[in-house]
Amino acid sequence: LYHEILTQKIALPKVENLVMAPATQEGEGMTETPYQRENATLVVLVRNNEVRKLLVTIKELELRFNNKFHYPYVFLNNKAFNDDFKNKILGVLNHKDQEVFFEKIDPSDWNQPAFIDTQKQNAGVAHMVEEDVAYANMISYHNMCRYNSGKFYHHSRMANYKYYWRFEPGTRYFCDIDYDVFKFMAANKKVYGFVINLYDIPQSVETLWATTIKFIEENQQYIHPNGAFSWLTESVQNLHKYEMTKGYSTCHFWSNFEIGDMDFYRGEAYSKWFDTLEAAGGFYYERWGDAPVHSVGLGLFADKDSIHWFRDIGYEHPPYLNCPNLDRCQGRCKAGAFSRGGNLLGESCLSTWWEKEMSEVQRGLY
Ligand code: GDP
Ligand code: MN
Repeated sequence: LYHEILTQKIALPKVENLVMAPATQEGEGMTETPYQRENATLVVLVRNNEVRKLLVTIKELELRFNNKFHYPYVFLNNKAFNDDFKNKILGVLNHKDQEVFFEKIDPSDWNQPAFIDTQKQNAGVAHMVEEDVAYANMISYHNMCRYNSGKFYHHSRMANYKYYWRFEPGTRYFCDIDYDVFKFMAANKKVYGFVINLYDIPQSVETLWATTIKFIEENQQYIHPNGAFSWLTESVQNLHKYEMTKGYSTCHFWSNFEIGDMDFYRGEAYSKWFDTLEAAGGFYYERWGDAPVHSVGLGLFADKDSIHWFRDIGYEHPPYLNCPNLDRCQGRCKAGAFSRGGNLLGESCLSTWWEKEMSEVQRGLY
């Protein structure tokens, strides 16, 4: 099914309200009407020493999308950005309409909270190391996952915006995006957009689902009647993942690319639920990722029709790709390929999303 879907020839999304890129009017004597952007920003959490990888991604993002719109960029870091980092970035993002913000994260939002029981944490980490959970013993990785799960949208700079596009150093964007994706989100009442849909390592989220069920039992009013429940609880393709987590498929939207409406996270349902997750300590006793956390929250508290598969965004974060059969990719990636080598399709949840959660309208959108 994955292959069948991905090799379908697609074009622009079939909506009446698509806003195409403004014509570039830099020629002499032209009167420029400034383009009215959506309240949105591109955002990346990144370390100083990743600047070279980051430049590759930013150049591509600009070329494929943002040089037509000039949405602002927010750079987040738990340490101060150094001059080398800032100069290299500003060397590339030098258009007169381009806003760029370098931000340091407040240590109290980044560091492990004091209530974490370090003995329990050490035991949990040792267990995960034994089970080969990547980054299990890297505290900074746990901090990063927690920050991306429940903190970044409260950062004082991010608080100015409604929509965000998260990206990461080293990721690739293959296809030209000639319409305003943020205006697409707003005009079509989308809360979240993804490209890649995956299973997770169940050892990293062993009690995420049980903690969530307990929260729901006391807060049933937050459940959206049109949630993505089948996708969250699918057990056919990877029964052992469902069993190890006591009921969660581990399906999630891969969060190294995501376009979202931060008001969803800032809302009561997600906020209260995040507080419960935080108190349970699973960001440190286990290694709850921001991808499963965003995804479980969206699957339960959002209308699944407001979650959009950006199938036209050609994307790669190794080892996975999304490569559409779309003229605007100009053969820069192989249509339908999910990985460069081997067969990793057993890791994809997209077919479940497609079959169980996408309406006819959503399926026929491109
Ligand atoms: P992976 O994709 O799960 O292998 O994790 P990455 O190493 O790509 O990290 C995810 C994102 O968080 C990337 O954008 C990294 O640059 C960023 N990141 C990870 N750890 C840190 C950290 O300690 N400090 C900062 N500032 N960024 C980090
Ligand atoms: Mn990454």
